[in-house]
Amino acid sequence: MTKKILYLFSDTGGGHRTAATALIKAVNHTSNSKYQQEMIDVFVQGSGILSFITGLYAPIIKYIPWFWGAMYYYLDDPKKLQLLELVSKPFILRNLKKMIKDFDPDLIVSVHPLVNHLTVRALKELKRKTPFVVVITDPVTLHRAWVADDVEMYYVATEEAAHNCVKYGLDKKKIKVLGIPVDPKFALKDFQKADARVDDRLEPDYFTVMLMGGGEGGGGMYKIVKAIEQSDLNIQLVVIAGRNKVLENKLKAEAKNLKFPMKVFGFTSRIAELMSESNLLITKAGPGTIAEALSMDLPLILTSWLPGQEEGNVEFVVKDGLGRVCPNPDEIVEVIRSLKDTPEYKKMKENIKKVSKPHAAFDIAKEIIRHL
Ligand code: UDP
Repeated sequence: MTKKILYLFSDTGGGHRTAATALIKAVNHTSNSKYQQEMIDVFVQGSGILSFITGLYAPIIKYIPWFWGAMYYYLDDPKKLQLLELVSKPFILRNLKKMIKDFDPDLIVSVHPLVNHLTVRALKELKRKTPFVVVITDPVTLHRAWVADDVEMYYVATEEAAHNCVKYGLDKKKIKVLGIPVDPKFALKDFQKADARVDDRLEPDYFTVMLMGGGEGGGGMYKIVKAIEQSDLNIQLVVIAGRNKVLENKLKAEAKNLKFPMKVFGFTSRIAELMSESNLLITKAGPGTIAEALSMDLPLILTSWLPGQEEGNVEFVVKDGLGRVCPNPDEIVEVIRSLKDTPEYKKMKENIKKVSKPHAAFDIAKEIIRHL
């Protein structure tokens, strides 16, 4: 009988969807599509009230990111987490148990911090021995909610992340450092840079700067475009507005009047292709985007981050010399200028080669298969 893998995630930033999708593709690639795999957004498919709360992620990070940070720190406490579990239990545990029973998985993989304790409890109440593993998508600092008892294995991005898990009480033997899973096409490079340049109709021979703000197109991208517009930088700009329709429309309307070439995309499935055409990435410090850029040897400028959740990502980029930080849009032009065609830029590329793990999805996929 075909064995089944259930992935638990939710769309609250942190690259959770990216990680689950990448793992499904990598498992299919490695096993010749031998397994039945399904991913569920536990909060959306699980309960009305929690789906409402997680639905607030996009507007909160766009308009009041400090609030997300405040919640993050508030919940970074074992007692408050227990309380959250207690409060959310009636809404979600019953649904989670039903989803597990209906799908009847041979392995459960979580890529989200807030589902782990609940899943352990659901399995206990169902009296199931289904193996349960967790893939942590935060590269360095991580919320204590990730760490739960009775999880078989944890797959983490860096030694620092492993160290933080141990700090939260996890047994070292249960942790493997394999990287953050990104879509296999970033590692397999199954696309041609030259073709992509033609397909996306970008100008050849320009130093190309890509601007991103996660899936929601957050992080103050408009101000950055304006700052570049007022400079004499000789660059081409590729802007990914993601699901931010207002930004996409505004920039598309303005693109024709700029003195430098700018191509604007809404939510696109061509991030790998566009990154392969770019020389520098300006972005919010989302873990998915950072891991993808590193697997494409793309130096970064981080302009914003979610308090708490993404602060460690900034530390990771700066400490290892993979990019720079520039929260002030007025300074972005000078930072680009100071990197463009310089020895520092070259050095960043070398540093990235040392730390990036473009094959993480395949390495974790092998581990997943080992549990079946
Ligand atoms: N992304 C995409 N198309 C877009 C914009 C973003 O596929 O138009 C992907 C991006 O490649 C990354 C994810 O969305 O995999 C964003 O994850 P990240 O952790 O960087 O930020 P989040 O949006 O989860 O806060």
